Amino acid sequence: MNLEFSLKKLALFSSAATNAHLPEKIGSVGLSLSISFLLVAFYNLAFFNAAIAIIDLSSIRGVFFLLNIALVLWLLNFIFISLITLPYLAKPLLAFLLIVAGSTAYFMDAYGVVIHRLMIQNAMETDFSETKNLINAKLILYIAVLGVIPTLTIFRLNIDFLGLKQELVRKLKFTGAALISSVLLILCMSADYASFFRNHKNIRQMANPLNVVYATASFFSNRGNATVVAPIEHDAAINALGKSLSKPTLLVLVVGETARADHFSTNGYSRQTNPLLARQSIINFSNVTSCGTETAVSVPCMFSALGRAGYSDSKAKAQEGLLDVIKHAGIDVLWRDNNSSCKGTCNRVDYEDVQHLALPDHCTDVECFDEILLHDLDKKLAAMSSRDKVIVLHQKGSHGPDYADRYPKGFATFTPVCNTNQLHNCSKEEVINAYDNTIHYTDYFLNSAIEWLKQQSPQYNTAFIYLSDHGESLGENGLYLHGMPYRFAPKEQKHVPFLFWFSEGFTRANAIDSQCLQRSTTKAYSHDNLFHTTLGLLNISTNVYRDNLDMVKPCRAL
Ligand SMILES: [Zn+2]
Repeated sequence: MNLEFSLKKLALFSSAATNAHLPEKIGSVGLSLSISFLLVAFYNLAFFNAAIAIIDLSSIRGVFFLLNIALVLWLLNFIFISLITLPYLAKPLLAFLLIVAGSTAYFMDAYGVVIHRLMIQNAMETDFSETKNLINAKLILYIAVLGVIPTLTIFRLNIDFLGLKQELVRKLKFTGAALISSVLLILCMSADYASFFRNHKNIRQMANPLNVVYATASFFSNRGNATVVAPIEHDAAINALGKSLSKPTLLVLVVGETARADHFSTNGYSRQTNPLLARQSIINFSNVTSCGTETAVSVPCMFSALGRAGYSDSKAKAQEGLLDVIKHAGIDVLWRDNNSSCKGTCNRVDYEDVQHLALPDHCTDVECFDEILLHDLDKKLAAMSSRDKVIVLHQKGSHGPDYADRYPKGFATFTPVCNTNQLHNCSKEEVINAYDNTIHYTDYFLNSAIEWLKQQSPQYNTAFIYLSDHGESLGENGLYLHGMPYRFAPKEQKHVPFLFWFSEGFTRANAIDSQCLQRSTTKAYSHDNLFHTTLGLLNISTNVYRDNLDMVKPCRAL
């Protein structure tokens, strides 16, 4: 279905509705029926496009099934709308719902995203600059046409509510009838429904706006009460080897953003996106999967001891993580952030938001480039008091959709680029060019961090880890951005770059066999390995350390 066409149709419809001679009074049931009809007809392009792609419309049964789905959707929307069509509250609640549904329709139509709890969590935890990046003319048009115009119409209506008791009886009668009808409709085509939802589980996350209502309710019910953060060990300490080293250890851990492994030339990408890293003696792991497909999951997960299989948001929030264990062992940790936050993983260590520095050399009026994470790092290092030290740098990386804003102009190696956040207005080539330039800039940033570590190498045994939080879809199968439910997410969103660099002094002092490590780089690893590998590199002994998940351990002659 053509997007522009549907928007125009709706604009005509809405302006007709706004100008039309409105009935003197409309009953609450009539209003709920009309609004739910509008929602199904105009806010669910993505849902019906997906359904049409699945259902065989050449058969009569397929046509009936599609009609059945549309009817059930109408009835379910009606039940929900009836619940919020209440005296005094109906107009503001409906206005809010229509504006949310209008914006949701935009994100689903434009980026192919589906709406689920973790996406609501991401939206709640994001900062204004990230939100600002998503605003564009088409989104405003969607909100105007699907949100504001119908809202104005609703405010002109005179809704006729009965007395409390009669209104309640009427609501119960109609919503009860709608519920029974939808159950009957589903039952009479139950086999079709069963296979439809079994094969396409995430399609229900496309039913706008019930998907937003469900995901938001699920987000709040999952938050629970304020959680107490429990330690996961009481025994973290530097082991005998760590204590015997003549030089202290300095580890820089870079948490990447939205970098997908297959666009790194170190992983065989045909374009030279990593010219500088290619000249460093890095150990590059080419087969690594992320814990989640979005920052709000991946970052807490990679810093927790839970592993992907045991991870849940509430569990991770209720217990300490990697940085706490490092701190308990007596090592200072500094987290510098050029992203939206550390998602709770650095709550008990030193934290600095570098975006607020707003240095003209590294920042535009929109945001700061990742190089700012290295600004005054010498001073930061000097201010840390423990013998060994850990610095975490959280990149803005390749965060979309406005990839072209992520790097200074000089890094626009691949052209022409998509200069807008409306990715569907750009060719696939322009989107990929802009994205590849972000990787090219990340190459420069990571190389600069390694060069900085080399300068510290006379005083420290230095080590460097880079790991991205998740990947990104760049138009494959019509998908953009990230955040698909893990089970359905394409590999582009889960296959992430992971690499190490160690100074000669670090390698020697820790008895690391580099050849052995290089031979292990094609093994399958995941975010689960970060926790244990980092503890191993820092020579921290604790009962939560699992040596089978330490990627370096098999290559240490200890
Ligand atoms: Zn992310």
